[in-house]
Amino acid sequence: MTDGTITFESVEAYIRERRKDSAFPPALEACFVRDTWKRRAKLLRITTLKLAFVYNIFMLGDWYLANDVVGPAIAMHLLLVTPWILFVAWYVAHAPSAHMRELAAASAPVAIVMQILATFCITRSPFAGYYLYFVLITTIGANSIHRLNYKYASAGSHLIFAMLLTAILFKADLPFQIAVMHPVTYLIAASVTLSSNKVIERDQRRFYLQALRDRLAAAHASEVANLDALTNVGNRHLLFSRAEEIWGQRTEPTIVSAILFDLDFFKFYNDCFGHSAGDACLRRVAECAKSALRTPKDILVRYGGEEFLLLLPETDLPDALRLAEKIRRGVEELRIPTEKLDGAGVMTGSFGVAANFTSLTSLDALIAQADTALYAAKRNGRNQVWPPLPRTADAANVESFMLAHVG
Ligand code: GH3
Ligand code: MG
Ligand code: MG
Repeated sequence: MTDGTITFESVEAYIRERRKDSAFPPALEACFVRDTWKRRAKLLRITTLKLAFVYNIFMLGDWYLANDVVGPAIAMHLLLVTPWILFVAWYVAHAPSAHMRELAAASAPVAIVMQILATFCITRSPFAGYYLYFVLITTIGANSIHRLNYKYASAGSHLIFAMLLTAILFKADLPFQIAVMHPVTYLIAASVTLSSNKVIERDQRRFYLQALRDRLAAAHASEVANLDALTNVGNRHLLFSRAEEIWGQRTEPTIVSAILFDLDFFKFYNDCFGHSAGDACLRRVAECAKSALRTPKDILVRYGGEEFLLLLPETDLPDALRLAEKIRRGVEELRIPTEKLDGAGVMTGSFGVAANFTSLTSLDALIAQADTALYAAKRNGRNQVWPPLPRTADAANVESFMLAHVG
């Protein structure tokens, strides 16, 4: 996984390791961030807005517990901290990285606590000690409901603790018992909520890994279901599903070509060299045809035995014939010896080509047309493409050729 590839096996191995730390290796972490980005940003936005709502209820506390400084306290509420939290609620969906997003989300509770502690420091109210409970509520909310990622929740809780201690030390008139009990209560609340935060994050990551493993397994299964086991090119399953896409397109009818090719005297080759030599020959021919594909839209399948089919969307007959000729030459150039046979002395193939518009033909009809052409190529002496492309490139020639062979 360190090289950046995520496979079913690598994810499975990582799950089996059952590592305690929640961070993934870099490639997997990048994948996790990408896959969960939208949902995470949405969750953070909602919880940040909830935080803003609850925070503004704290204004009741300004009124009751710090009445002498209610003006500055409410001003800090409404003019500084609430706008910042609202900015954070917007920013979490627009941050350039996961780090910036989590950092921004973590800044909201820290900003709330700064206001609480500032009010606590300036008030002369005898109830100032009670005002500090809002620090507890904020930290519990940040770690459990706001659900900051553990690393950020932990850093935020530590920072808030340091700020709380500083404010208590600053406030010399705070009764000793309250000055002791607040940090103690805070530590208990922060450690309980942080450990549940850690468990939640670990479970989320574990569920993600299991879902990713299932997704990769399903993708692998569907890939395998589309492949021919011997040659590793497509099979009929792939052909039918891609044909459905081509013929099902709602756009303009498009021209589509089919090349059906068959190895010459293959039965004899098998008889002479054995079945496994025949298999190796099929694999090499398939590889050769595969390397001639021009775009991912071109489909190569093993149609049966020693017969292969290429389905070429948006390809007219001359282009298909040229591609067939290229593969024919490629097969010949593999120079698979068949010295016990007559003819070229090497393995060759015969090619039948057909083209038509999707609105005028079906897959079956197109293949039947290519099969007829293949039969003609065999009859005409094998190792050739049928119909033969006119030698001159003159336009009228090609046009009359198209009229004779298309449709
Ligand atoms: P033609 O030039 O007319 O096509 O003659 P041919 O001998 O190639 O055609 P035929 O249809 O008589 O024989 C096809 C042979 O292909 C028969 C079969 O043994 C062989 N074959 C089919 N599938 C496989 C396979 O998966 N592996 C191997 N080794 N041979 C196969
Ligand atoms: Mg054959
Ligand atoms: Mg055959």
